[in-house]
Amino acid sequence: MSRKKLIAANWKMYKTPDQAREFFRDFLPMVKDHDRDDVVVCPTYLCIDAAVNAAKNSNVAVGAQDVHWEKEGAFTGEINAAMLAAAGVTHVIIGHSERRQYFGETDDTVNLKLKSALEAGLTPIVCVGEVLEEREAGLTDDVLRRQCLRAFHKMSAKKAAKLVVAYEPVWAIGTGKTATPQIAADAHAIIRGEAAKAFGQELADGLRILYGGSVKPENAKALMSEEEIDGALVGGASLDPKSFAAIVKY
Ligand code: PEP
Repeated sequence: MSRKKLIAANWKMYKTPDQAREFFRDFLPMVKDHDRDDVVVCPTYLCIDAAVNAAKNSNVAVGAQDVHWEKEGAFTGEINAAMLAAAGVTHVIIGHSERRQYFGETDDTVNLKLKSALEAGLTPIVCVGEVLEEREAGLTDDVLRRQCLRAFHKMSAKKAAKLVVAYEPVWAIGTGKTATPQIAADAHAIIRGEAAKAFGQELADGLRILYGGSVKPENAKALMSEEEIDGALVGGASLDPKSFAAIVKY
């Protein structure tokens, strides 16, 4: 089955609103006629307004890097899915390994966030992936199965239609180490298998599974040529418009 690839930028905690505007000023002309893939940029919450305005009427969508699952309430510092949608956001990263590692994100909160994002009509990009010790102990498959099983818990195929998953081996994020296309393809097959169990084969066949972990202009083509890899989640190399455009146009 042919799946349209999605190339997503995760800006993490970088860029002010002015810097976000500068990025779009330079980036949009470079990808103006690009419709082979979907492209989304996920800035900080603070830059969402600048990004949405800068990307208006373009082929580039704007995403967020996290979301809270409640509809509203006394949750200081949090932002919910309806607020993101109202601000013009269409995508949201959920369960990034940095949130799991530093901010107490669990498989259960990933599940809650995923459900609330889908309910608000957002396209969630759910991140899964093993740390180095788990890979070295031969636990990669178990970790991916557990993360998927818990993320997809009690969700219907109908609700999950927009789901996107990103396989991000934690040892490859920001380290310059990239998974070989074969390592990524094997992990993607496990994830697709879990999606088939949770949602049925039809949804699993259409599910976009991105690869993330030190994707750069130099390695994008080899990774994106792998049949199982349906796009990329790009951190460091997405901060520079030229470098991200080169990845988009691999
Ligand atoms: C990420 O932040 O999701 C990521 C993959 O980062 P990097 O591309 O810098 O490894």
